[in-house]
Amino acid sequence: MSTHSTTVAPGSPAAPSTLITGIGSLVTNDTAHGTGPLGLLTDAAVVIDAGTVVWVGPAGAAPAADERFDAGGRALLPGFVDSHAHLVFAGDRTAEFNARMSGQAYSAGGIRTTVAATRAATDAELDANLARFVREALHQGTTTVECKSGYGLTVEDEARALRIAAGHTPETTYLGAHVVAPEFADDPAGYVDLVTGEMLDACAPYARWVDVFCENGAFDGDQARAVLTAGVARGLTPRVHANQLSYGPGVQLAVELGAASADHCTHLTDEDVAALAGSATVATLLPGAEFSTRAAYPDARRLLAAGATVALSTDCNPGSSFTSSMAFCIAVAVREMGMTPDEAVHAATAGGARALRRPDVGLIAPGARADLLLLDAPSHVHLAYRPGVPLTAAVWRAGVREL
Ligand SMILES: [Zn+2]
Repeated sequence: MSTHSTTVAPGSPAAPSTLITGIGSLVTNDTAHGTGPLGLLTDAAVVIDAGTVVWVGPAGAAPAADERFDAGGRALLPGFVDSHAHLVFAGDRTAEFNARMSGQAYSAGGIRTTVAATRAATDAELDANLARFVREALHQGTTTVECKSGYGLTVEDEARALRIAAGHTPETTYLGAHVVAPEFADDPAGYVDLVTGEMLDACAPYARWVDVFCENGAFDGDQARAVLTAGVARGLTPRVHANQLSYGPGVQLAVELGAASADHCTHLTDEDVAALAGSATVATLLPGAEFSTRAAYPDARRLLAAGATVALSTDCNPGSSFTSSMAFCIAVAVREMGMTPDEAVHAATAGGARALRRPDVGLIAPGARADLLLLDAPSHVHLAYRPGVPLTAAVWRAGVREL
């Protein structure tokens, strides 16, 4: 018999517990429950109840539950944790991508194209667009998604982006410091004052995180420090777009300020790698960006060898990485960045959870949120082995079967 949550409203039917059995290969990311860093189990079962994993173990020892789901020998893993995405925007940048693939270089300035389209959109349009991307990601196995502002760049437009994002995910990130707003092109210091003042005041109630694009053409180290420390003073936790297009101070700043994550990490000195390895700051790699800008990939092996925690994420945005597919990122990380399939799957699940400081997701263990991805494949390795093939067989989010 299952014990149902006491939070179920009177009169509504209690959600049944479910036994998922016949799991050919189970990625738990819980080394106490299985072998290797993925905590792998074969011929396994999982019981979920009231949105939570309540039991994990061998199929032959599984307890009874209200309902039974036969995985048919396929692979079950934690839902993907996409810890870096920019999903509140309007319009697209097809022409820019087409031009880039015809030989033009990527620069941070292209962001302003999306800013103009986003400002012109209604709340309803932005909300519908965001809902579509969250759904699109869910259908590919992503059960947790972070979402940044950064295409409004006015007090009102940044605040509404975060207000809309907060309706879809608790992982909302204030990125007023994405690029200098066009109105402040001749006064970047004035824009930093706005981002650290009135704009922060308007955005902080809807945001968990504060982020800054620390890069040539965006914000330098001093400006980035001002943005992050102002956010911290308002109770936000920092994460940083760091060292994407060039070497710079972003990674060191992220580590110094105790950021949850330094994202991109494409151009790292030995000191940067050592700083990440010696800290709790996750190195979040975003291979969709290098893919879509035809740039050199970050050196994942160097980070892993040093002992840094690595996450993989989509960076889904209309300019430099218009993919919501974590499976695609895994395949690219394995083929182009030297990660093993196990490392890439770990980075896309447990790594992302670490980058969002979420102990309840990115693993399948008693007490974890029941976010599960069933693959139409016998092993998680197929995510890299069968690139571009839709392998999602079923997804549960907080115990609810979504597809
Ligand atoms: Zn980004």
